[in-house]
Amino acid sequence: MRRRRVAELCNLWHQGVSDAAPVAKGGVTRHGATGKWQAQVRFRGEVRWLGLHEEREAAERAVAEFRAENPNHRQRLLMSVRRNHVRAYDERTLLAERAQILDIRRMDREPVLRVDTDGGRQLRCGAGSEILTPEGWRTLGELGAGDSVMVTGKIPRPSEATIPPSLRRGIGVWTSMQRNRLIRPVDDCYVCRMSFARAELELDHVVPVARDLLKALDERNLAPICEPCHAVKNAEEQQLARRAGMIAAARPVPVVAIAKDGVEETYEVAVQAPAANLLANGMVLRGAC
Ligand SMILES: [Zn+2]
Repeated sequence: MRRRRVAELCNLWHQGVSDAAPVAKGGVTRHGATGKWQAQVRFRGEVRWLGLHEEREAAERAVAEFRAENPNHRQRLLMSVRRNHVRAYDERTLLAERAQILDIRRMDREPVLRVDTDGGRQLRCGAGSEILTPEGWRTLGELGAGDSVMVTGKIPRPSEATIPPSLRRGIGVWTSMQRNRLIRPVDDCYVCRMSFARAELELDHVVPVARDLLKALDERNLAPICEPCHAVKNAEEQQLARRAGMIAAARPVPVVAIAKDGVEETYEVAVQAPAANLLANGMVLRGAC
């Protein structure tokens, strides 16, 4: 998928979708104690009671009127775009990857900021959204000129061939020695978050050995992984190692200017874990853009 500005991306997802989305849930139920008809809706996470009515039709009318007066844009799910992917940044592997969009929600109007980086990259995004910096996640509103943000760029692809087989074997032996100490009798796979007995878990180098040899003997880089997830991750790493030339990773780049740029409707894009973020013009974002 080619790169697009977040606003363009979101507008694209919303094409053909009606604005008059009803309140998500609601309806009419028989009220046992009084024998009347009770009208209620669930609106923005709260239950709104719309009274007890003698006639069922009157209760249904109350629900319909509430829905007509309160179109609820936040609840709009875009089922048709669920199979689409965006570029996201995996904080564990430090690489740009493809990730599936889970949902897009239209949010309220909010101040929009324009960020210009050293090297000429540009971004427009809601002031409340978060951006990845070398110090971690910060809201765009907290950011000033001179601060750095993480920007993806190309790095040479990791190569298994640069690690001698004897060293690789040694790393393997050391890693298996840490197993009983670092994996609890029942522990969670760090990829799928499901619980397993220790016998079903292995220790995985979160940042692969081929990518960062200095992390190979760092136990903070070891995490329990279940066998199915390990198989998937190994296959992905082998595929990555076969990719020709360069791969996408992130590095800090200074912000040269950040300025208010109007007030607009923003969109929140929910992206599949583990990345759960969105790459826009090389910058890593989460929240409403
Ligand atoms: Zn797993």
